Amino acid sequence: MSRPRRVLAVFGTRPEAIKLFPLLHALAADDRFASRICVTGQHRAMLDGVLALAGIRPDHDLAVLQPGQSLDQLVARLLTGTGAVLDRESPDLVVVQGDTASAMAGALAAYHRRIPVVHVEAGLRSGDIHQPWPEEVNRRIITTLAALHCAPTERAAAALRAENAAATAVHVTGNTVVDALHWVRARLAAEPALAGPIRQLQARFAEQRIVAVTCHRRENWGAGMGGIATALAGLATRPDVALIAPLHHNPLARSAMQQQLGDLPNVALVEPLDYPAFVHLLDVAHLVLTDSGGVQEEAPALGTPVLVLRETTERPEGIEAGTARLVGTDPDIILAEANRLLDDAAAHTTMARAHNPFGDGQSARRIVELMAQLAPSDRDSRAA
Ligand code: UDP
Repeated sequence: MSRPRRVLAVFGTRPEAIKLFPLLHALAADDRFASRICVTGQHRAMLDGVLALAGIRPDHDLAVLQPGQSLDQLVARLLTGTGAVLDRESPDLVVVQGDTASAMAGALAAYHRRIPVVHVEAGLRSGDIHQPWPEEVNRRIITTLAALHCAPTERAAAALRAENAAATAVHVTGNTVVDALHWVRARLAAEPALAGPIRQLQARFAEQRIVAVTCHRRENWGAGMGGIATALAGLATRPDVALIAPLHHNPLARSAMQQQLGDLPNVALVEPLDYPAFVHLLDVAHLVLTDSGGVQEEAPALGTPVLVLRETTERPEGIEAGTARLVGTDPDIILAEANRLLDDAAAHTTMARAHNPFGDGQSARRIVELMAQLAPSDRDSRAA
């Protein structure tokens, strides 16, 4: 039997860890592969919680996070850091996910060494290089470099083909976030304590309907965040509603929320939640308001309607399926849409029952099969 293919996964943020752990579990259970893990430390605290939950121990940790560093400095450190790991590991394949600086730098370092790149969650596009910034460009760069494009939906696959990605290299796999959700819900069922502070908040807000809020995108810092906080303060005047908002670590993402919502009795601003606690919050919420990418996929999979606090989305599938609505950052529009879903039970039910377009929880298994079929590169044959 030929030797297992050596795979190196490179990632650095919480959402990447969430979307990659199902694939890492599937690779670890498959003798055709020997996988190793390089974390960049782009988001330190939030990443470690997911790794501990999923029982994943990185083989390399670049710890690139530095206070106040520019994007240039971050990307430079990521590129040289992942390049050095690739030289030591000499993998046959590199796996990256999504569109972070870590993913882009990992893919570029692999390309510099002629190592084929597997891109998980390929083909998302907003069509605007400034939104989300800089992720829209990161993912376009990864598309240019990748040997296997794992598209979460048919629309993402079509976007890749339209950009001339080789049709044989583009496959619709579904989104691994649905695999992650299934895994975490099973853990929550077995260990209810994993829901952490959300159970206490449910007890405190037992008479109210819970609206979950997450808001941290760079494009919304400043005016956007102010508009969102104004809308939330308006929503909090309703006695039948309680808002639970896990804040992001970034001070710029926290300040508008803290200033406008810090002292309201039916608003709980909490620290970032562990993944199972956050999934439980999405599950029990009547409604989710978010500018996050991943949450736009998770809430529909849990049957919770989503209002998207962005001007554009690279996940229009949720909007087309009727599970999500794009509301931007204008306080009047956000408030009107949220009030509609709170007051019109039929409108809420229509959104809650809409079809989840992001996957069936089998994506990791499909990606592993595609990786097994990937033709060996020159590099593989030389090493065999
Ligand atoms: N998430 C979490 N705890 C929180 C808020 C979010 O575990 O307090 C998870 C969420 O389930 C989703 C991911 O983090 O999978 C989204 O991360 P984020 O909004 O930072 O990034 P994006 O999805 O926009 O890339």
